[in-house]
Amino acid sequence: LSSITHRMNLCSNLPLADPSLPNLGSSYVLSSLKTIHLDGHFNFDNIYHAANDFGNRHHYLPSAILHPKSVSDISSTIKHIFEMGPATELTIAARGHGHSVQGQAQAHRGVVVNMESLQAPKTIVHTGKMPYADVSGGELWINILHESLKHGLAPKSWTDYLHLTVGGTLSNAGISGQAFRHGPQINNVYQLEVVTGKGDIITCSETQNADLFYGVLGGLGQFGIITRARISLEPAPKMVKWIRVLYSEFSIFSKDQEHLISFKNSFDYIEGFVIINRTGLLNTWRSSFNPGEPLQASQFNSDGRTLYCLEMAKYFNPDETHIVNQVIESLLSELSYIPSTLFLSEVPYVDFLDRVHVSEIKLRAKGLWEVPHPWLNLLIPKSRIHDFAKEVFGNILRDTGNGPILIYPVNKSKWNNRTSLVTPQEDIFYLVAFLSSAVPSSTGTDGLEHILTQNERILDFCEGARLGMKQYLPHYSTQDKWQAHFGPKWEVFVKRKSTYDPLAILAPGQRIFQKAT
Ligand code: FAD
Repeated sequence: LSSITHRMNLCSNLPLADPSLPNLGSSYVLSSLKTIHLDGHFNFDNIYHAANDFGNRHHYLPSAILHPKSVSDISSTIKHIFEMGPATELTIAARGHGHSVQGQAQAHRGVVVNMESLQAPKTIVHTGKMPYADVSGGELWINILHESLKHGLAPKSWTDYLHLTVGGTLSNAGISGQAFRHGPQINNVYQLEVVTGKGDIITCSETQNADLFYGVLGGLGQFGIITRARISLEPAPKMVKWIRVLYSEFSIFSKDQEHLISFKNSFDYIEGFVIINRTGLLNTWRSSFNPGEPLQASQFNSDGRTLYCLEMAKYFNPDETHIVNQVIESLLSELSYIPSTLFLSEVPYVDFLDRVHVSEIKLRAKGLWEVPHPWLNLLIPKSRIHDFAKEVFGNILRDTGNGPILIYPVNKSKWNNRTSLVTPQEDIFYLVAFLSSAVPSSTGTDGLEHILTQNERILDFCEGARLGMKQYLPHYSTQDKWQAHFGPKWEVFVKRKSTYDPLAILAPGQRIFQKAT
């Protein structure tokens, strides 16, 4: 390993300058980019949006944006930078939809690849016994949904929000309420086409170039740029029964969640969220749910209590309404929620999957979408979730006014352990997502500083109490912390980096490796 890390600086090390190599000036490097033959084009002026992301906190200006029209555009550009060797500091970051929160898709003075420009070939849906869709790495999941629905099919595993790209979510995991059954999105991919950090275009799968395949899945963009993916599909339902119920005891809430993810014919989607110190709850709760005609809607009032909302969905087709109602009744009868808090709604499948987009439109209209988002996503082992809930929901957090806090368990047995994704060591763990929005320039409890301090307190608690927590969408600033994050997977991760991106050209915004200069 030491020879690998010598060639490629780890993020906390000082650059290893080789005095025998000429250091090429940046204007020379940029003008050399203009010599690459492309189907698409570079942009050197209109580059400011690539120095921003959904997090709205990290701003690293690139030198150029590549708008590729073909995979060979990406390959040629990487090859060009690779062949210049350590003589330039030029790096390259794929940018999906730029919905990272900590600059992960940015490249300071480097080249940002606008993956959404790479649209050809279009999404192709293959029907048959094991249906799948071949899609561009820069395609948005919402477009894949619409395209596959034309064939009565849809991907199995989702994120809560569909205006994200395939390459962006497959570089992380892609987790939502279906992950307890199907695993995250990275477990529902048959094949990838990847351009490595040397510019090689490689097709990989479980049986072909498997090391690259598993490395890239959950690999934080470190080993290659995903230009195409083969996504597993299933028959799509037309409708969804969407249900929410409340609990005042965390232990009963989590017991019911764990029960629901433990058997086959359960709901198709299981999530949950925490409500702390909200009064007049019912109205906000219902309006965000938009339940249409709830079958039962009580005048339940939270009175500022901490409550836990279990959210479930069952897919069905209109001719199965009678049966699905019976199944739901039976499933609900096994749960111990507060009886007067059952909300049941019926919505088209697309509306259910695209639900967060509705909030996006409303927030954008109020100017509340492009604010700082100091998000924190954690994976907590089941055995310590009660300790976590007691301290975090009972002590550290005073309210949930800054944004939703999602919490739901998943089965690790459904997750493929060979990918680069790091999870806790237990069979069942919880995703806990603190999805805060900060009010710009506020110094109060809704301001950025306050939320960041709370996040730090949560992380400190997890570390001090040795919960065995792992960050999802991880962000660290030192090599030691990255190494601790990857644990036993670190050695393989570093080896893969030296194989597929030996000059550490790719995805510098993750701050794991630094390009040798
Ligand atoms: P970007 O932010 O553009 O890129 C992310 C990283 O991947 C960067 O390092 C980038 O360089 C790299 N990358 C991008 N494209 C490629 C490619 N083609 N090949 C290789 N590397 C690439 N996540 C979940 O798991 N579940 C959720 O429910 C969920 N909900 C979300 C809701 C919202 C409103 C937002 C903003 C984010 C949500 N996320 C969720 C997080 C999301 O999955 C990640 O932020 C993801 O990276 C965003 O995708 P993107 O296309 O914007 O990627």
